[in-house]
Amino acid sequence: MLTEPNTLAPMIDPELLRRFSQGGPRYTSYPTADRFVEAFGADQYLQALAQRSEGGALHGGEPLSVYVHIPFCESLCYYCACNKVVTRQHNRAAPYLDALEAEMALQVQALGAHRPVAQLHLGGGTPTFLSDDELTRLMTSLRRHFALQPNAECSIEIDPRTVDAARLARLAELGFNRISFGVQDLDPAVQQAVHRVQPLEQIEALMKDARALGFESINVDLIHGLPKQTTESFTRTVREIARLRPDRIALYAYAHLPQRFKPQRRIASAELPGAAERVALLALAIDGFLEAGYDYIGMDHFALPNDALSVARRQGRLHRSFQGYCTQPDGDLIALGVSAIGRVGATYSQNTKDLAEYQDLLAGGVLPVVRGLALTRDDLLRRTVIMALMCQGRVAFESVELAHLVDFRSYFAEELAELAQFVEDGLVTIDADGIQVTPLGWYFVRVIAMVFDRPLRADRAREHYSKVI
Ligand code: SF4
Repeated sequence: MLTEPNTLAPMIDPELLRRFSQGGPRYTSYPTADRFVEAFGADQYLQALAQRSEGGALHGGEPLSVYVHIPFCESLCYYCACNKVVTRQHNRAAPYLDALEAEMALQVQALGAHRPVAQLHLGGGTPTFLSDDELTRLMTSLRRHFALQPNAECSIEIDPRTVDAARLARLAELGFNRISFGVQDLDPAVQQAVHRVQPLEQIEALMKDARALGFESINVDLIHGLPKQTTESFTRTVREIARLRPDRIALYAYAHLPQRFKPQRRIASAELPGAAERVALLALAIDGFLEAGYDYIGMDHFALPNDALSVARRQGRLHRSFQGYCTQPDGDLIALGVSAIGRVGATYSQNTKDLAEYQDLLAGGVLPVVRGLALTRDDLLRRTVIMALMCQGRVAFESVELAHLVDFRSYFAEELAELAQFVEDGLVTIDADGIQVTPLGWYFVRVIAMVFDRPLRADRAREHYSKVI
């Protein structure tokens, strides 16, 4: 049975939100990227590509996904934790495109040319930092190397400050059918505090243009927990966004880690909402979007009931990829660009995060993979469980046992014991057949999945050990 998240009355006990809306992995991969190792590099990645190619999985089989990372941004948003290069020098794009083309050629050499692609995503940074001609060049190169299927989902992240109606029209002509606007917050004071000023009128006009151009799906990204955000101001943001009716809304939590992310040092800690206010911001957003008729997809994602994501959710066909929830099975993902993360067979790989190194390696004909992971049997088993929780809200013991040849209850005895706490709080039920996330538990599914994350468990055990000795 599938969890029906939006049967929940839009009211969640703030105490539960306080206890369980903790930070944690978003599980766009398992193991998560911070567990990748340098022992996995370009040679191991090429081997993985060759194995997939020989194994036939890529020969007319499952179509690929392709991710392209464009790192450049014209101006710095102070909350940013992305891998980006802030520059106004648009002439930096051409050598980057040279490198991307070299990378495509090297990967396709190992894969074979013209593999079918069902999903393409351009992310960043700011993909629309590229001019129309540069985007055309990029799409032409992608089409030369890969067979983009006629019904492929082609999506692009858009900084509203970098586009107008004519540019949106060009994106549609190039084959993009899904767009995602980075909005974050509509309040002028908040926008100033994070150095990202983009008036509501501009966003509204662009969304109208995008609709008129026939984009199949429009997503809006929001962030709660930003400086100067108040329950009043964020209520207005939520109302306005719901009124604009994007097909999908992603509501991320701001994590203030100025030691780790330098741009965040420009945010005054005193202007950040306190813990109780952060919980109130999240609660009002959930209430607001549910009341406005959105379905809760999971992990802070909402979609209109007729959106493909909502339909997939209801039909138990939801998947997770590096872009979050998606409707296509999470097969092989070819990643292109500085810092990009790919997934081929039972491996993950990540390119260098250093732009100069990325371009230098490719100029020398070397793939820029510098970290990654070959998944163990245990990783694959835990990935199955975590993705089943995150996407279907249910783990059926028997299907996991058949696929991975383990006795679920003895293999995960400790994890099942730990879940007792969640059973008590009404977030999951456990019976003879499996684990079921309840409608309430769906709002905390990340924390439930974390129980099965082996490296996290090891970290916690180490912490406990160091406290008791
Ligand atoms: S948040 Fe996005 S647009 Fe802003 S600096 Fe970071 S990557 Fe660039």
